[in-house]
Amino acid sequence: MNLHEYQGKELLASYGVAIQRGIVAKTTDEAVDAAKELTSTTGTSWHVIKAQIHAGGRGKGGGVKLAKSIDEVASVAGAILGMQLITPQTPPEGKKVNQVLVAEDVYYPGATEPSEFYISVLLNRASGKNMILYSTEGGMDIEAVAEATPHLIFTEEIDPSLGLLPFQARKIAFNLDLSGTAFKEMTRFVTALYNAFIGSDASLFEINPVLKTSDERIIAVDAKVTLDDNSLFRHPNFEDLRDFSEENPVEVEARAVGLNYVDLDGNVGCMVNGAGLAMATMDLIKQAGGEPANFLDVGGTADAARVETAFRLILKDPNVKAILINIFGGIVRCDRVAQGIVDAYKNMGDAIQVPIIVRLQGTNADIAKELIDASGLNVLSAIAFQEAADKVQKAIR
Ligand code: GDP
Ligand code: MN
Repeated sequence: MNLHEYQGKELLASYGVAIQRGIVAKTTDEAVDAAKELTSTTGTSWHVIKAQIHAGGRGKGGGVKLAKSIDEVASVAGAILGMQLITPQTPPEGKKVNQVLVAEDVYYPGATEPSEFYISVLLNRASGKNMILYSTEGGMDIEAVAEATPHLIFTEEIDPSLGLLPFQARKIAFNLDLSGTAFKEMTRFVTALYNAFIGSDASLFEINPVLKTSDERIIAVDAKVTLDDNSLFRHPNFEDLRDFSEENPVEVEARAVGLNYVDLDGNVGCMVNGAGLAMATMDLIKQAGGEPANFLDVGGTADAARVETAFRLILKDPNVKAILINIFGGIVRCDRVAQGIVDAYKNMGDAIQVPIIVRLQGTNADIAKELIDASGLNVLSAIAFQEAADKVQKAIR
């Protein structure tokens, strides 16, 4: 689950990470009130107005702007709210901005220029350890830094059983060329950041930029936070952070009925029991010359009601030219699944306009095949994997 910048910053702040302060607003009036309230606590009269969408690169797309007065807050917020923001990370048509973060300007002029760093925390799956990636070259173009000057990006691996050790926090501050107050601030910053990462069961933190202000404070100016969906049961309060308008509507609907559905770009819908078999089935579809339109794990109980729900979800995608059902009957008997498919199909009447290929293997597979063949429906049955692939290939041709 992805968070908005303002939610990510609140999460970080709750673990003691220093952040650029701000207040989220849904209307121009709210933005003006937010700016006035910020001024009364921070003392700064300049603000940045930042579009809140689930995509980075907002600065480049015109979604982050400085306002030097309350009048400018109103005009800038008015322009950003409701706009269709296009960034390198949005779909081509962009994303609609429903909220802005009104934040204190932290790039105030001072004796020294502010410096922008890049810091992210994530899991290195190869080593099974968490790692902190960091660089002096923060700002808006970290992808270009990784491309042209990868040696300017440092990596610190953290043993999960030991946590981030003090010497590692100091090494990071040292490699970022800091000294004095800023050095101490940075060790505090990364320590709190790592605690927040562990405490919230996050799978990604990307803070770009982390800013050294002209008065030597270290603060998070941006926050991209991804929480691990598999750990959300440990944080019931995080459910409120979900922004349904940012999620795929079919995926939202699937989650509500307990189905594991991920929308993809292809032309063959699939319905499978078990995530591993679902992955293998997607490979099979590719081998047959198709592209999977979705990942769908229907789980252990493939009864008529569940199969029907799955059909309806898959058929919402107009690109689907065929549906491949691949079920292994271990605990669930194949003939019961086959009956479920036939019942669901009959119940849906004309809603199904594409060929369906059913591959059932396991307990009572042959009875299941007979049941489907005798149904008289536009359903092709198969027992062997390859046979199913061949039938998919014919169907999409
Ligand atoms: P992103 O483009 O989506 O990654 O959004 P960021 O939150 O990183 O903001 C983009 C850029 O806006 C930053 O790299 C900064 O250069 C600039 N910015 C952010 N906060 C301030 C601020 O308080 N004052 C000024 N002048 N610029 C800021
Ligand atoms: Mn950023």
